[in-house]
Amino acid sequence: ALIVKHRMKKSGRWARAEAIVNDFEEKCATPIGKLRQVADAMMVEMHAGLASEGGSKLKMLISYVDSLPKGDEKGLFYALDLGGTNFRVIRVQLGGKERGVINQEAEEVSIPPHLMVGSSFELFDFIASEVARFVTSESEEYQLPAGRQRELGFTFSFPVRQTSLASGTLIKWTKGFSIEETVGEDVVSELTKAIERQGLDLRVAALVNDTVGTLAGGRYYDNDVVAAVILGTGTNAAYVERAHAIPKWHGLLPKSGEMVINMEWGNFRSSHLPLTEYDLSLDTESLNPGEQIFEKLISGMYLGEILRRVLLSLAEEASFFGDTVPPKLMVPFILRTPHMSSMHLDTSSDLRVVASKLKDILGISNTSFKTRKMIVKLCEIIAKRGARLSAAGIFGILKKQGRDVLATEKQRTVVALDGGLFEHYTTFRKILESTLAEMLGEEAASSVIIKHANDGSGIGAALIAAAHSQYLELDSS
Ligand code: BGC
Ligand code: MG
Repeated sequence: ALIVKHRMKKSGRWARAEAIVNDFEEKCATPIGKLRQVADAMMVEMHAGLASEGGSKLKMLISYVDSLPKGDEKGLFYALDLGGTNFRVIRVQLGGKERGVINQEAEEVSIPPHLMVGSSFELFDFIASEVARFVTSESEEYQLPAGRQRELGFTFSFPVRQTSLASGTLIKWTKGFSIEETVGEDVVSELTKAIERQGLDLRVAALVNDTVGTLAGGRYYDNDVVAAVILGTGTNAAYVERAHAIPKWHGLLPKSGEMVINMEWGNFRSSHLPLTEYDLSLDTESLNPGEQIFEKLISGMYLGEILRRVLLSLAEEASFFGDTVPPKLMVPFILRTPHMSSMHLDTSSDLRVVASKLKDILGISNTSFKTRKMIVKLCEIIAKRGARLSAAGIFGILKKQGRDVLATEKQRTVVALDGGLFEHYTTFRKILESTLAEMLGEEAASSVIIKHANDGSGIGAALIAAAHSQYLELDSS
């Protein structure tokens, strides 16, 4: 079965390969007109999602965060950041207006893959035991006065329907997590129970999405941050909305008049999206078919997998790697986005990084220079599409906020960005930035700043916990 059915002459093979790649490139095209259609479709869905529960594929979730950090937060707080392949426990010492963040320590652990698809009990037990380890090993200086509880902000980077700032039920898992029994459960109570099983005295004071945490963390350092975007294993955005522009919100109008909305834009879908046969089969064979279509075009979990699928079809249909199909090329998710990024960024004259990745990851050796160049081209096509669509999404948010045009000369709009894809895939980031500038036009682009908010989601959650501490009045009196 590994032998390619029709042995093709070398020249025939190459022509066939070129045809496949050109066809793929055409289907992935994102001319500016298409990007504007995507941005407009995004805006339409934003309105629909804000109008009524279930009104759109865009859930536009209410975060219950109606005020963002002001900089005067004080005290010792914790954060727990769960959402990708790693999770982190963080401790921050906040010193108020004068001193800012006095001290910040974090520990990162990777999540054993079997826990991502196992049981709720096991996952939360594992997390709670890491929290317990972190807390019990801390030095004397962090001991709280007797009777005072530790407080934690829980960054949980999955779609959650919040019922208050510190409670909410899981709508669905994404990004390779799949534990059926957690769906519909309150994740804060799951975590709290697990923490109690560890014998730890700790209160979950806030539950936030990573985008909301990043927005809060970004605002702490920069007053003009009005939106946050994560481009990592998954992708999503949050932004500040006017409370009276949220028809589905029936609660009290917040004093600030504002509400942070977690868009869950990963689930965006539109006929304007450039989907190819590879995207469709990736989706069908995924853990969550039909869901997170925008995310599957953009985020770090999927870019490498799209590349693998195209390479596989080149191997099968154009004998791209010789007469047989390299067996490893048939293994889903074997080619990760960081591999793709380093191939894409290969600046050596003989593309030796590409050669070494092909060998190490896929067991393919002796490729020609022409073949390696073609692979770099595929990386470019896939990354470019993802980056340009991300820019269109950001443009859609700015348009919704009326910040796609320059209202006053002083106007400054900052979007906080974080996630491994944005941070490490340089080409992706550059394309995103230049595309956004292109969409905004020179004048408006001069007022919009994309800012890397490094690990802002954890500190953001701690800040929100601080702003909602049960000891707030006690401390300020
Ligand atoms: C989740 C979002 C999250 C994003 C980035 C998506 O898969 O649905 O809640 O913000 O990944 O981590
Ligand atoms: Mg980071």
